[in-house]
Amino acid sequence: MDEQAKIPRATAKRLPIYYRYLTFLNDAGTNRISSAELAEATKFDAATIRRDFSYFGALGKRGYGYDVEALLEFFAKVLDQNSLINVALIGVGHLGQALLNFNFHQSSNMRIAAAFDINENRGKILSGVPIYDMSELEEQIKAQRINIAILTVPQGVAQEITDTLVAAGVKGIMNFTPLRVSVPKGVRVQNVDLTNELQTLVYFIQNYASITTGK
Ligand code: ATP
Repeated sequence: MDEQAKIPRATAKRLPIYYRYLTFLNDAGTNRISSAELAEATKFDAATIRRDFSYFGALGKRGYGYDVEALLEFFAKVLDQNSLINVALIGVGHLGQALLNFNFHQSSNMRIAAAFDINENRGKILSGVPIYDMSELEEQIKAQRINIAILTVPQGVAQEITDTLVAAGVKGIMNFTPLRVSVPKGVRVQNVDLTNELQTLVYFIQNYASITTGK
């Protein structure tokens, strides 16, 4: 396929899910899959899958299905293109799920391509994002060439996870935990402490109120 060709946004959004299942099939030694089988697994209808895959060139053959390895190779390339910046999210709790629901992709070229957690959410797909087990973090970050991560884990594990992310090659961390994590030179951390922000606002409002009312 023409590397420059634009893939529709709706198709691009389904890519991480295709990628997730194909990785799973590949690891299990499956060489090919039909659009019907893929529809069953992903809950997208087979016609949508065939249309999506048609943007990737004539990889499917009638009566044979799709070659899993060839598709994986192609997806890795697409996921790597600058047109979409793939971000990982670590910690699918309340805040993490809110961010998964927040459609970054609608107003920008960024999207959460993979999320990770240690709890029962792993293996599920939430808001179109596959949730991986933490044991798959390094492998997935490398395979999907992700270099930005959002941290929404309890602060007690924030440093340890930051170290793992940095070791996997992550260069930017959006830190939603109150912990000021340490990173080596060359890695950038953006801290977003929502409680702190709200407290600052409360402080200003209280001060402002005391000035205007003269209390
Ligand atoms: P939030 O703080 O986002 O409101 P919460 O109150 O639901 O979330 P937390 O205890 O803050 O839960 O944990 C956030 C998420 O981080 C949970 O889904 C939890 O399973 C996950 N988590 C906890 N420890 C780890 C870890 N070591 N690695 C990855 N994920 C973790």
